Amino acid sequence: MAEITTHQLVKEFPGGVRAVDGLDLTIADGEFFALLGPSGCGKTTLLRTIAGLEAATKGRLTIGDRDVTELPPGKRDVAMVFQDYALFPHMSVADNISYPLKIQRVPKSSRHATAAETADGLALHGLIDRRPGQLSGGQQQRVALARAVASNPTVFLFDEPLSNLDARLRLEARTFLKRLQRDLGVTTVFVTHDQAEALALADRIAIMKEGRIQQIGSPREVFARPANTFVASFVGSTPMNLHTATVSGEHVKVAGSSVPIPPSARSRVSDGDEVIWGARPEYLRWSTEPVEDSIEGSATIVENLGAAALVTVDAGGTLIQLVVDEDDEPEMGARGWVVPRIDRTLLFDGA
Ligand code: ADP
Ligand code: MG
Repeated sequence: MAEITTHQLVKEFPGGVRAVDGLDLTIADGEFFALLGPSGCGKTTLLRTIAGLEAATKGRLTIGDRDVTELPPGKRDVAMVFQDYALFPHMSVADNISYPLKIQRVPKSSRHATAAETADGLALHGLIDRRPGQLSGGQQQRVALARAVASNPTVFLFDEPLSNLDARLRLEARTFLKRLQRDLGVTTVFVTHDQAEALALADRIAIMKEGRIQQIGSPREVFARPANTFVASFVGSTPMNLHTATVSGEHVKVAGSSVPIPPSARSRVSDGDEVIWGARPEYLRWSTEPVEDSIEGSATIVENLGAAALVTVDAGGTLIQLVVDEDDEPEMGARGWVVPRIDRTLLFDGA
């Protein structure tokens, strides 16, 4: 059973870069926890510090009921999968998978039995005698996973393990990984810069920026109730519309029109406040007839998304994007009204 906690964890590199800047985290036993953030925000450093590959500059780290802050990586009972898989090119698949067991001094026969069994479980049977160079990218990725699974750790640490796969394979591997984690119930920290991956896989997501956590919540929470405009613009497959607005009575003035204050924000704002109005493209509707409490504009760009389209509307110089069903696609240049779902719009503090 392994809960992970960090207490005011700091990792500073020579030269003064604070890659991890005072983190307090509790990751529950058996949880699939994603660390999401842009490149350079400190995700890999945090993961390597949990693994013991980097020494913490300050703070404490526990895994299960043990304080592991000072323990070397081999004593932490964690298994890490790297972005580039880090397989040994001169070793067979079997030897790669069973390598951590060799380090743990497990006898050879038992090692090979575990490797064969794990390989079967990860759809690698028949490939056990090959070398990594004789495998596809997806198979190499599963060998790296198998190596982590075979060592039977209390914690999995995954650093963007799917990012070297092409788009289609990445989706398959994602589902595979989710099932594997659910079956094994091993506490998992999964690092990614891909918001879709984090939303799809995780029980909870921590969004990081410059070494600090911006928000922690379920995929639904961080999508529907982002804590700030950074989270709002980072999470979601189409970027949230974020525009300056002014509170006026029960409404906000935005893009030359007036829309109601969302219920969630009513108690927080007062007349005259400068705020940022946020609306996801999925929560806006296109009307060809005038509608009260909507934003008038003209459709300037229509991008096909398959069953839907992303429409960019010019509302007096402010560009607003909305996702419409394929049947409701406007003509290029058509005038219309952007109608928000008020309960799904958000107000953020002004800049
Ligand atoms: P991410 O994985 O989110 O892309 P990293 O953890 O790799 O981010 O990097 C976070 C910050 O720490 C970056 O500014 C990076 O340049 C810096 N950094 C990472 N590793 C080192 C290192 N070994 N020495 C100095 N700076 C580093
Ligand atoms: Mg990284």
